[in-house]
Amino acid sequence: MSVTTTTTKQLAPPTTVGILRPTIQREPEAVGQRIAPSLQYHGRTLDVVEEKMYQKRKWAYLRGAYENTKAMGIMPHVILMAMTIIFNKSPLAPMLYTWLNSYDQWTIWVVVSATIFTVTEIAVIALFTYLDLCQPQWIAKYKVQPNKHSTWKDIKKAIPTVAFNMFVVNTLSNLAFVHLARWRGNSTRFEDLPGGWKLFGQWFVCLMAEEVGFYFVHRALHHRSVYKHIHKQHHEYKAPSSISATYAHPIEYYFSNIMPIVVGLIITGGHWSLQMMFFHGLMIGTHAHHSGYNLPFLTVALPHDWHHYYTNENFGAIGLLDGIFKTDTVYKAWIASVQSEFEKTKVKGGAKHVMYHEVAAEILNRYEDEQEAEELAK
Ligand SMILES: [Zn+2]
Ligand SMILES: [Zn+2]
Repeated sequence: MSVTTTTTKQLAPPTTVGILRPTIQREPEAVGQRIAPSLQYHGRTLDVVEEKMYQKRKWAYLRGAYENTKAMGIMPHVILMAMTIIFNKSPLAPMLYTWLNSYDQWTIWVVVSATIFTVTEIAVIALFTYLDLCQPQWIAKYKVQPNKHSTWKDIKKAIPTVAFNMFVVNTLSNLAFVHLARWRGNSTRFEDLPGGWKLFGQWFVCLMAEEVGFYFVHRALHHRSVYKHIHKQHHEYKAPSSISATYAHPIEYYFSNIMPIVVGLIITGGHWSLQMMFFHGLMIGTHAHHSGYNLPFLTVALPHDWHHYYTNENFGAIGLLDGIFKTDTVYKAWIASVQSEFEKTKVKGGAKHVMYHEVAAEILNRYEDEQEAEELAK
């Protein structure tokens, strides 16, 4: 699909979009002249650059979607780590760990941990789902794929699988983890609480284990012979929403979502406190990744939303291995292109212009054509 044909096609009045309604603004003095349609999103007219980007891609063309930076994106981890360090030094810590260790190890790792995780995860999903379905005005400008919005029907479809993974797979995993934790000596005692630097070091090891585990398992799941049997389910959502983060085949859910966390905890022999902190950081991250919104001060959603949109790139959790194995080139080219366009209109005198790689555009256009043909054939 060439850029010219895309332009013609996309400016036609949308039939299924519903949210993005192109309107033709007619000014009296312009009567008789050809007037370009002006696109509106949630009552706001797209600016010139947004509209220019919309002609190329329907993915992340709103200026607001670029307001969350990588520096802001690590905030959930920074906040959780600060909270853990402060809590562990507070008078509340001995009280919590005395109460916790009144139970046996099985109850702590299987019942107490699971209850806390389940309650907080449901709360995070519920909050994102509420925002996605109600779409308050303030959140609309951060939408990554403004042409696609989740409906209650989409959410309902995900619930049985998400609940199965949350209650059954998590429990089976925790039952296995009790034995691993006993063998490795992962402590739950107040006396063994890690200091700030140790906690940071162990968190970093867990993050690396997560990146390596998730990247390679995820790439394997994209292998032609495996994809249609397991991972295709997770990719049913081309524009993901928070709940779709754990909408996955149970085998995928265990090996790509749970196992890398377990590996990190076993390598480090981390304390219960590390498990709580790392899991919650990751859980908030994965639901923010899939939320459909790139919100400031939350984990950056653009890379994984792109993975759901384009499928063939951004396999990792933090982008480190995608950079090393060059599985993010089309994504980076698009981001560079949009940001350079936005900055030209924002920075006085014009920012350094980054050329959009035509080769990358060609690849993506061909891919989008195939996807479109596939959807029409359904
Ligand atoms: Zn995938
Ligand atoms: Zn996903």
